[in-house]
Amino acid sequence: MPTSLRLSRAQLGAVLEHARACDPEEACGILAGDADGTVRRVFTMLNAAASSTFYQMDSREQFRVFDQIEQEGLELVAIFHSHPHSPAYPSASDCELAFYPDSLYLIVSLMDNKADSRVFKILDGNVAETGITIVDK
Ligand SMILES: [Zn+2]
Repeated sequence: MPTSLRLSRAQLGAVLEHARACDPEEACGILAGDADGTVRRVFTMLNAAASSTFYQMDSREQFRVFDQIEQEGLELVAIFHSHPHSPAYPSASDCELAFYPDSLYLIVSLMDNKADSRVFKILDGNVAETGITIVDK
């Protein structure tokens, strides 16, 4: 189980770009890679809820992405989403709907144009912040 998210500046940039493109709605997606938390692939995805306070992956797209991750021999490292108007901290619904205990949760906040990025583990409604490491490859 990854304890820290390791991604490149370009990968984090792709996440932020997707978040800005979806603003004012929340953006979401999946980061896949190695068991130690190193990201190899960024999947930007549709927010089926089309909401500014909530995200829900499209189930068919999610199935396709999980299938592709498996085919490429990668693992689910993190699920990411944006908070257009609130801090980078899991909301009550984020905790309720955190169905992947082995996944990290990356939240990027666009509040005050700061693009604050934080990573959490969410287990049984308990939130624990983990590290985020920028590795330039
Ligand atoms: Zn959220």
